[in-house]
Amino acid sequence: MLPNLPFDPGHILVGGTWRATVETLSLINPSDGTTLCQIACSTVADVNAAVTAAQDALNGDWGRKSALERGRCLTRLGQLVLEHADLLTTLEALDVGKPVSQARADAIALARYCEFYGGAADKVHGTTIPYLDGYTVYTLREPHGVTGHIVPWNYPMQIIGRSVGAALAMGNACVLKPAEDACLTALMFAHLAKEAGFPDGALNVVPGLGAEAGAALARHPGVQHLSFTGSVQTGRTIQTLAAENVVPVTLELGGKSPQIVFEDADIDAALPFLVNAGLQNAGQTCSAASRILIQRGVYDRVAARMADAYRAKSIGPASSDPDIGPLISVKQKTRLASLLEAAHDLPCIAETPMPDDLPPKGAYVQPRLYGPVPPDHPLAQDELFGPVQVLIPFDTEEDAIRIANGTIYGLVAGVWTRDGARQMRLAKALKTGQVFLNNYGAGGGVELPFGGIGKSGHGREKGFEALYGFSTLKTVAAKHG
Ligand code: NAD
Repeated sequence: MLPNLPFDPGHILVGGTWRATVETLSLINPSDGTTLCQIACSTVADVNAAVTAAQDALNGDWGRKSALERGRCLTRLGQLVLEHADLLTTLEALDVGKPVSQARADAIALARYCEFYGGAADKVHGTTIPYLDGYTVYTLREPHGVTGHIVPWNYPMQIIGRSVGAALAMGNACVLKPAEDACLTALMFAHLAKEAGFPDGALNVVPGLGAEAGAALARHPGVQHLSFTGSVQTGRTIQTLAAENVVPVTLELGGKSPQIVFEDADIDAALPFLVNAGLQNAGQTCSAASRILIQRGVYDRVAARMADAYRAKSIGPASSDPDIGPLISVKQKTRLASLLEAAHDLPCIAETPMPDDLPPKGAYVQPRLYGPVPPDHPLAQDELFGPVQVLIPFDTEEDAIRIANGTIYGLVAGVWTRDGARQMRLAKALKTGQVFLNNYGAGGGVELPFGGIGKSGHGREKGFEALYGFSTLKTVAAKHG
């Protein structure tokens, strides 16, 4: 059951006013299949109104705010997120099925994004450019204008923080379309943004279906930049829609990220990262380490220890704070089951025991570890988005690089070796947006630019780099003689 909410989940925030939508959708708790509430389902007209409200904000109070004032709004918002972290945690656990500790970590990360971008808002400077005699030339960093943010269900708070936070810092006015199956924390964020003193229309939130509300936002000629995280297929659709208006798009489309374990690695240090980076959020993580490449000499040892770790994990409803909760929905469970049909010829070396008392209508999936798996097998190539990892043995450093780079994706890679020269070679050779040496994920790293190459997408969010993506550069050349 939902706790008391300071907002109505059947409402959307447009131009600083909460209003009901004509249609609503049922929001399902994936831990037990019960209906939590009815949530707003925005129409094309609602999205159009949100874009107009964002334009008005740019022409009004929000557009006149200095970088310092924008930063202060964000910093206040970060403080409010921290003060309401308990409620945000509860909402995310109920809505997404995320174990409460992991949901709390996301709430804290959301606050941290607001703090980071609040502090950074007035630290993005232009440059002066030495030019011809009689000229002074300088550059200005300016907002794009209205930015559209289409967010998935796997890390709503983190993804809102990294994209909306950076966009607001640079003075854009945002229209946020959360995923239809995960929008409670987005609405709570909107409520807190109002409290933090953001002017009307600086942030508009319009939950709704992807094909209707999402597509309306992506194709809207009044939107000057789009940020999307989700599937390759939807990313392609959004980029195509954005192309009609010739606007830039940041796409973060997931991956098939490897961790590579060499024979000289500190296996004890690696082990928790090898397993947890695959099972966190039930494997529904864009940067999940879904492939573990293990040098042959330590293959049996690492495989056996990972198998033990799988057997020791707990699975259950989000509120009981297990290691692994349900998937987001029965739809995702069905999708994963069909992808796993390809695994019938593979050795499954460990499963996490499923408790007998799991709610029968919850979207639970048994975590599975497969190995050895040929690198070109569908399970080693396709993004599964579930609690499943594959183990791939390799012989030489060259083999490891070739296998690691041998998918359509390129988001993140981890390398475990004590050999410093090899670390440097691998860091250069791996075709990914991030490489972690003797760690994986670096604790989330709000400060660390993040994004992919290949079918993992393009553009960077997080860190200072995002501030460049969420702004445009103007060159001013003054001829004064
Ligand atoms: P999706 O990409 O379809 O949905 C993500 C977001 O896009 C949601 O807000 C959705 O409403 C919106 N959307 C959907 N269709 C749209 C359209 N035509 N125009 C504009 N917006 C649209 O993802 P999904 O169907 O929920 O999940 C399917 C698969 O996508 C997953 O199994 C996983 O492989 C992948 N995925 C990846 C990530 C990631 O972090 N990279 C996140 C979620 C899902």
